[in-house]
Amino acid sequence: MFENKKIFILGMARSGYEAAKLLSKYNNKILITDRKEQDENHVKELERAGVEIHICDDPIELLDDSFDFVVKNPGIKLDHPIVVKAEQLGIPVTNEVEVAYSFLPEGVKIIGITGSNGKTTTTTLIYEIMKLAGKDVHLGGNIGYPVCSLVEKCKENDILVLEISGHQLHDFINFKTDVSVMTNLTEVHTDHFGTYENYKYNKCLIFKGHTEKDVAILNLDNEDVLEGTKNIKSHKLMFSSSKDADLCIKEDAIYYLNERVVELKDIRLKGVHNYENIMCAIGAVKEFGVANESIINLLKSFTGVEHRIEFVRELNGREFYNDSKSTNVKSTQIALSAFKNPTIVLLGGLDRGLPFDDLTSFLGNTKEIVCYGETKNKIKDFAESVNKMCKVVDTLEEAVLQAYKDSNDGDVILLSPACASWDQYDNFEVRGNEFKQVVNNLK
Ligand code: ADP
Repeated sequence: MFENKKIFILGMARSGYEAAKLLSKYNNKILITDRKEQDENHVKELERAGVEIHICDDPIELLDDSFDFVVKNPGIKLDHPIVVKAEQLGIPVTNEVEVAYSFLPEGVKIIGITGSNGKTTTTTLIYEIMKLAGKDVHLGGNIGYPVCSLVEKCKENDILVLEISGHQLHDFINFKTDVSVMTNLTEVHTDHFGTYENYKYNKCLIFKGHTEKDVAILNLDNEDVLEGTKNIKSHKLMFSSSKDADLCIKEDAIYYLNERVVELKDIRLKGVHNYENIMCAIGAVKEFGVANESIINLLKSFTGVEHRIEFVRELNGREFYNDSKSTNVKSTQIALSAFKNPTIVLLGGLDRGLPFDDLTSFLGNTKEIVCYGETKNKIKDFAESVNKMCKVVDTLEEAVLQAYKDSNDGDVILLSPACASWDQYDNFEVRGNEFKQVVNNLK
């Protein structure tokens, strides 16, 4: 599909760069544009491969009907002038995953994971279990590795585990998975698609092209998932954390088709939401004949994806967890629900003007709040309104020291800030790394 063609790549970054690199090997004429200056080495490398690069704000004049495809970065909005113009000119708009898909060797199997929450955790679990089981498996997609960068490493019959966003699903042409996982659907950032209906519709495109030979792993507890998938052709495997299902929780263990797979006590990950992610992962890896032993061994050691309720260390009977990815109240609710022990929670960050009241019913085990950053005074007012002990400090480091000082043997100390990090940090990763550094330096 993408040979001897003229291709317009909108947005460079890593995915545009990898797409251009791959496409340049198949006699395509490629033009790539971006608003921002790009990595100098990448620019030189692509120019050597004959790619035309334009760094400019307004590339509209560069697109005309001589192009066969527009390959756009999934983050670029659907009303971007280039996307609109391409549609007017009848040029298909797609993305780097579709490009990669067209070059995959024979027999490659694809597991695609989407949903509103839990994508990265589920994708990582599937990949790590498969790897431990000795499968030839590759990790990519929205998780940070463009699929175009995997194509040349991929052999016939290898397995690709791909985190797929709704944005990517919208732009696929032939892309199809063998196993699709839909973790859940909830009304989060629907901005790209305008309405929640549209957002759901696009997420459910992960089942496009499926026949009864393909597998859909679905959340039985989620009405929107059930509604959105009622007409799909896939073989359905249902999971539930509350009811009997193909994958479910019974007698303190996770079951797959009535087989007891793993004891809950052997699972390091915390929280019912993580049991749901694990059920999705078990459903997926079982399709590839993975033995329970690999699943159990992985779950015994897997402490979480970085910055998502990630176990950091134990010190004098206190357990420290890093949930820096929590940038809103909803995520902090989930993190607080994951712990039964007395918890000291570190809250604070960028002030978006949003209230913290929705945390109230999740503070049952919380013995103290330590708040810092731009929202510290708001959080203090909230804590007082619900009669929770609260200490106010300025920085995350001070918050850790305060929490440790106030903690006892058996406590959990949890960074789950419920706020974006941008008041004090470049991103949540930098914030989480600082937390871990301070915690690891505690004596
Ligand atoms: P995503 O990739 O979809 O953003 P992650 O695996 O990175 O999801 O998890 C991000 C946060 O979402 C977690 O810290 C947790 O608060 C929440 N989360 C994870 N899994 C689930 C789930 N199955 N259901 C609800 N919330 C979840």
